[in-house]
Amino acid sequence: MALDILNANDRQGEYPTSYYAATSTHLPAMLAAAGALRADVCVVGAGYTGLSAALHLAQAGFDVVLLDAHRVGFGASGRNGGQVSGGQRIGQDDLENMVGKDRARALWDLSQDSVSLVRSLINNHDMDCGWTPGVIEADHRVRDVSHTHAYVDKLNSEYGYDKVRAVHRDEMRDLVGSPAYHGGSLDMGGGHLHPLRYALGLARACVDAGVRVFENTKVLDVKQGDPAQVITSGAVISANHVLLACNGYLGELNGGVAARVMPINNFIVATQPLDEATARGLIRDNHAVADSKFVINYFRLSEDRRMLFGGGESYGYKFPSDIAALVRKPMTQIYPQLRDVKIDYAWGGTLGITMNRMPHFARVTGNILSASGYSGHGVAMATLAGKLAAQAVQGQAEKFDLFADVATKRFPGGMTLRTPLLVAAMLWYAMRDRF
Ligand SMILES: Cc1cc2nc3c(=O)[nH]c(=O)nc-3n(C[C@H](O)[C@H](O)[C@H](O)COP(=O)(O)OP(=O)(O)OC[C@H]3O[C@@H](n4cnc5c(N)ncnc54)[C@H](O)[C@@H]3O)c2cc1C
Repeated sequence: MALDILNANDRQGEYPTSYYAATSTHLPAMLAAAGALRADVCVVGAGYTGLSAALHLAQAGFDVVLLDAHRVGFGASGRNGGQVSGGQRIGQDDLENMVGKDRARALWDLSQDSVSLVRSLINNHDMDCGWTPGVIEADHRVRDVSHTHAYVDKLNSEYGYDKVRAVHRDEMRDLVGSPAYHGGSLDMGGGHLHPLRYALGLARACVDAGVRVFENTKVLDVKQGDPAQVITSGAVISANHVLLACNGYLGELNGGVAARVMPINNFIVATQPLDEATARGLIRDNHAVADSKFVINYFRLSEDRRMLFGGGESYGYKFPSDIAALVRKPMTQIYPQLRDVKIDYAWGGTLGITMNRMPHFARVTGNILSASGYSGHGVAMATLAGKLAAQAVQGQAEKFDLFADVATKRFPGGMTLRTPLLVAAMLWYAMRDRF
């Protein structure tokens, strides 16, 4: 089965009709790559991973070509929930069991660097992307609360991280106006932002730094060698180094990465703007919220006080025909008061997940690197991955290798069978959420 995820759900070269696309100042369309080009580094994919890598490389004096099959920020980076927090997608306790305490600690420190990196990029490049501090983890089962609070204690005492604190039931009901949650935590080190404006801010910085950016340029093949050759329908780019930054849209461009990074779709709606009192009744202090369900609900308010609610995975590569109806269901389970609210925008996106939910950093060959599979935790981590890949190209690979050394297994079933297996697993976990 040929996977053409790049074109399965969207129109060529167009951003989806999302709230984000409607509230961003777009860059002029950039030309497609044509003819024979030469570069020090060719970066494939202009999401956070590729944009950050290209920017850091150009700032270090490299001649960089950056290609995207559609537009800059077309993929997950222009469509996501905008939630930014430290840590990995899995907790430090699980990570310690996986890689030992010392490496878990080093990966924690890098996760904190990733949040600082996002914030400094926003500041240094004057990006208007509405950074707002505070991320709430909300527990939907009473029995999860004691675990969350023990985890907060661990971060406070063992990791010296004092920006996160426990939230008890009554306070949670004040902070998040829903009967669905029994407690959780509040992390003031994290926050939320407008994801597409952040991606476009990175793209502007890339152009200013001299990166040659080409849009509507789908890479069809990457031929190993020194230099490697990146083949598109209209161009051949010879480059000393190549970075694959395609995440969930990689398809069959590289079999080894595709076997470990599975594309999965997720969906978001934006309601009509709400009046101040209604909005504050939903999320009192304008934090971002993510809950403890396996099929996670994540939500926050936009700058113009819309509820931006994400949830409701679907399995299979085509988006459902009525995304608004799909997401309205979990949204009204959490907030029955939004039953009759109008939904102005509904969109889907494709992300890359791995078996163990740790990102997959790889040296495909000596001069071809890849970073992807952030498993829904990529706003900061993909930005950092780009920087670490840029360092690896410059011969400082310790931090890239710290991630690359975390083994990510192949999904069972290969490219054709893995989806049905994942569907079965996800449905089982989704069912467990209800109890
Ligand atoms: C709906 C949704 C909600 C999410 N919510 C959050 C959240 O709240 N917080 C969080 O931290 N993370 C979240 N994520 C995950 C986060 O968005 C991603 O981890 C992150 O954007 C990954 O960035 P990337 O650059 O690796 O990939 P992408 O942004 O997907 O970029 C990949 C790019 O590669 C291009 N490409 C692919 N193949 C080719 C090719 N052959 N030739 C040329 N170009 C190609 C694509 O066009 C695309 O632009 C969410 C994701 C989705 C989809």
